[in-house]
Amino acid sequence: MSNELDLASFIRDVPDFPKAGIVFKDITPLLGSSAAFEETVERMAAAFAGREITKVAGIESRGFIFGAALAVQLAAGFVPIRKPKKLPWRTFRHEYELEYGTDVLEIHDDALTSGDHVLIVDDVLATGGTGAAARVLVERFGSRVAGLSIVIELEFLKGRDRLKGFPVHSLIQYR
Ligand code: AMP
Repeated sequence: MSNELDLASFIRDVPDFPKAGIVFKDITPLLGSSAAFEETVERMAAAFAGREITKVAGIESRGFIFGAALAVQLAAGFVPIRKPKKLPWRTFRHEYELEYGTDVLEIHDDALTSGDHVLIVDDVLATGGTGAAARVLVERFGSRVAGLSIVIELEFLKGRDRLKGFPVHSLIQYR
């Protein structure tokens, strides 16, 4: 579509952040543009329109920004998936492997039901470890899961390979 914004032009590459060798995809220019932010959320929502999503599960912390806006757009509720010891109620936790060490994600144990249809949201898909961990947490409830929606996919890190059989939708791809 010719009237679409070039959303990639609103992403800033920050070399060596947060550590040497990482090129950080900074989404703050996109968030700071009302037109680009609105179009991002509209395009993310359009990919799942009519799918009767009942809950959007956003991954801390940048997944909260897109996930909350997407939940409103899809007329769904919002569920936070958080780093350990942030959530006040009882949680399910899932520990997963990083390149060096492990990490943990948590979700409230009453956040979803088997009747929910859930869309998981984050900003960036890199190696896929975070998305795969969120998937495990959500599937524990017996909910139907529509897939993972992200703004930016770093295809060269092959995150989709860790999410085999799981639908992944991205707006911007880096090869
Ligand atoms: P991964 O588990 O490797 O797919 O990493 C995904 C998580 O790390 C997401 O929550 C991203 O916000 C963050 N992340 C990983 N790599 C980058 C990057 N190059 N730029 C910005 N965020 C990143």
